[in-house]
Amino acid sequence: MAKIIFVTGGVVSSIGKGIATASLGRLLRLRGLTVAPVKLDPYINVDAGTMNPFQHGEVFVTEDGAETDLDLGHYERFMDVNCSRGSSVTTGKVYSSVIEAERRGDYLGATVQVIPHVTNEIKRTILNLAKEQEADVVIAEVGGTVGDIESLPFLEAIRQMRTELGAENTLYVHVTLVPQVGPWGEVKTKPTQHSVYKLREIGISPDILICRSEVELGADVREKISLFCGVPPEAVIESTNANSIYEVPLRYEQLGLGELVAKRLGFGDRAVDLKEWEGLVENLLNPTQEVTIGVVGKYTSNGDAYKSIAESLIHAGIPRRAKVNIRWIESDSLESSDAVAKAVEGLDGIVIGPGFGLRGIEGKIEAIQYARENRLPLLGICLGLQMAVIEFARNACNLKGANSEEMVDNPTYPVIHLLPEQKGVSDKGATMRLGSYPCNLVHDSLAAKLYGDVRITERHRHRFEVNNDFREVLQQHGMVISGVSPDYRLVEMIEIPSHPFFIATQAHPEFKSRPNRPHPLFKGLVEAAVKRRAAAAATTL
Ligand code: GLN
Repeated sequence: MAKIIFVTGGVVSSIGKGIATASLGRLLRLRGLTVAPVKLDPYINVDAGTMNPFQHGEVFVTEDGAETDLDLGHYERFMDVNCSRGSSVTTGKVYSSVIEAERRGDYLGATVQVIPHVTNEIKRTILNLAKEQEADVVIAEVGGTVGDIESLPFLEAIRQMRTELGAENTLYVHVTLVPQVGPWGEVKTKPTQHSVYKLREIGISPDILICRSEVELGADVREKISLFCGVPPEAVIESTNANSIYEVPLRYEQLGLGELVAKRLGFGDRAVDLKEWEGLVENLLNPTQEVTIGVVGKYTSNGDAYKSIAESLIHAGIPRRAKVNIRWIESDSLESSDAVAKAVEGLDGIVIGPGFGLRGIEGKIEAIQYARENRLPLLGICLGLQMAVIEFARNACNLKGANSEEMVDNPTYPVIHLLPEQKGVSDKGATMRLGSYPCNLVHDSLAAKLYGDVRITERHRHRFEVNNDFREVLQQHGMVISGVSPDYRLVEMIEIPSHPFFIATQAHPEFKSRPNRPHPLFKGLVEAAVKRRAAAAATTL
């Protein structure tokens, strides 16, 4: 039977519960255990797919096509596992199942209630995931902060699980804040005490406290927290800001968290293989060169809206010890060539990001034109590919008025149009082309060189595609369609061979990059950027 770790958060939101959960998962993976993470999100949306990226950040897509919370991205990157549909549970999803079951008559006339019907459904989904992924350990992170009304059913369900599964099979980890206040920056334990009282009120006593703090906590502070919160001192883990999020697992390991958790769950003393992780953190923290990559997007004012792209760029620099600085460029601000020239000054490469809707797309097109004409390395992602095709159609093939059907009705040249299977689809939730699909690459293309293979799979999230009526004209003018779906119907990847590095994909490669396995497209972009910077330095010597 799988062991289950529950992670809750206290005091304030955004204290890094996702990173703490992901890091804890990494410590168990380093001990050779199979880990299945799951995020329990109290919001009523059935999934994150319909949520505004400005408000909620990125929508992370799993292999099996679930649109989920961005924390799943952290889980995949830190734990090097693939999450699935079952790794994301929301109040909306739980209630939908309960209501469906009620309509079918499954409850045999019972009055359907939060306890036991909703809590049973929550427990069932957690246990199902354990079975489905044959996990040694499930790590379940409860979204929100203890004290929120909407997370109560989840907390009640996890409380019941200890009684049902036993203390040896369950572990409660509470991530909390230990702030500094007053003119002398005094460290205060009271918010943590209150947050633990709040948990106890609903019947949960945490086994481990991860205390986020700006400064190191002295032994006296840890002892005080231990005394007031009823947690042994060795289980009060301080968590100060790290130089990189990828350093967090190593810090936790040093503080004995991995050993504590493994022992507590009955896994005993297991060999820990830190070599690969230490190596990548060493490279990350000691760069020997740097490049600056611009990310042109529509939602750049929320730093989380392109989380996986930012992480993929950082991963791509690791093998080369290259620090990748990211310059966020809001595409709205680029709608003249002067504005573009200013925004891209000093860049070594550029990513044209994904997105939806008309706003800011002319700015993306301007940035692409600049990169194409000035030989700036470019990677286009999803909407980025679609805009690269429009730019090329307008400016290289002279198809003035080329556009996407997503942006204008009846464009003169509809070079991007709706996927045939999307015709007649009006619901917005979970109806895009989602998840992993295969793609065949053209031999000797840049894509095939980067991937080192001609058969690949990538994750998708789109409704529109390149219109095949325009393939020929694009090719005649020097664009290569270097990746297509196995039935040749769908353009998956394009490139311009006369350019040092110009490649775009209909997929979302950012969802598959891992710090220990940077994605080939991002790696290629960063390498091209390093080359460009070296060449520029050589000419100024
Ligand atoms: N809006 C475009 C489409 O639906 C691109 C989507 C994206 O960038 N993820 O096809």
